[in-house]
Amino acid sequence: MKAMRLHAICDFTCEEVELPELKDDEILLKVGACGVCGSDIPRVFELGAHVFPITIGHEFAGTIVKTANKKDEDLIGRKAAIFPLIPCGTCEFCKEEQFAQCTNYNYLGSRCDGGFAEYCVIPSKWQLVFSNDENTSMESLSLVEPATVAQHAVRKAKISEGSNVLILGAGPIGLLAARFSKLFGAGQVALTDISDEKIDFAKEKGFQVFNTLEEGSGKEIQGFFKNHKIDVVIEGTGSTAGLNTAIELIKPFGRIVMLGNPHGDTMIQLQNHSSILRKEIEFYGVWNSIYSDKELNEWKYTVEMIDTGKLKVDDLITHKVKLEDVAKLFSQIYHREITVCKAIYSKEV
Ligand SMILES: [Zn+2]
Ligand SMILES: [Zn+2]
Repeated sequence: MKAMRLHAICDFTCEEVELPELKDDEILLKVGACGVCGSDIPRVFELGAHVFPITIGHEFAGTIVKTANKKDEDLIGRKAAIFPLIPCGTCEFCKEEQFAQCTNYNYLGSRCDGGFAEYCVIPSKWQLVFSNDENTSMESLSLVEPATVAQHAVRKAKISEGSNVLILGAGPIGLLAARFSKLFGAGQVALTDISDEKIDFAKEKGFQVFNTLEEGSGKEIQGFFKNHKIDVVIEGTGSTAGLNTAIELIKPFGRIVMLGNPHGDTMIQLQNHSSILRKEIEFYGVWNSIYSDKELNEWKYTVEMIDTGKLKVDDLITHKVKLEDVAKLFSQIYHREITVCKAIYSKEV
């Protein structure tokens, strides 16, 4: 089979590899689509992976074509999104089914072989999140991971009927967080970004977006939210500017959800540090999402929302390529030759 192999930093090529033999409870998935995550770009060009060589890609979906365990054979032919985290199962967090906090996890597409390939070996059916609607496309299912991360942030923010929500960063997760906010009954929802292309794209899709580089944008945003009441800010940029903007604009007793990965040391201005105290701002960190049936399984919820048409995701895909063109796509993104919302590898190209 063909797979996108990362051999070393910047050494990323499409090549022929052996189709792996299945053992234990493993399942062979024929990949239908795999998305490029923001974290994949530095993984290829700057940071490298935990092991080499590796097939990267953790935002993927496909069809089950083979199972090692005869008991699972009824799954053949079904389509599923993949929960890429492989928990240790024994640490204190795994015992509580808080898998995102597992202290010794493996991960499809960053620590072991993932989705930028024709096939991927999934450890067991536990990782499969099934779609029950024949009309749901593989491309939509490849967006379940970012959509669920967005959903988790929105749940953590306790967004409810009428909440006013400002989301900093209009990339795919920001836009999906805006859609989930609306789905959960939010009142006014707006986003910010600094890229004209991203802003134009989001506006085309019907989102309310402000450019924070423009003078007076803070006033404009507060004007959009009547009475300056912003109940929740979802900080998706991981930047100093983003965090300070969040603190400036949030209402007293408001909630700030820290979603964006930081890019360096984040500095809070003195005045804003005081505002955290005066406004008694609540901060929440979010990491990944909830994949436990003890609570509401956020992954299954995302797929259900997609299957029932309540959540649209595939219109955020701006670039689709075949496997052989994934390296070129990565290079174009890294060198800023193209601006993407969601870029994916799709079998349908
Ligand atoms: Zn991702
Ligand atoms: Zn664990």
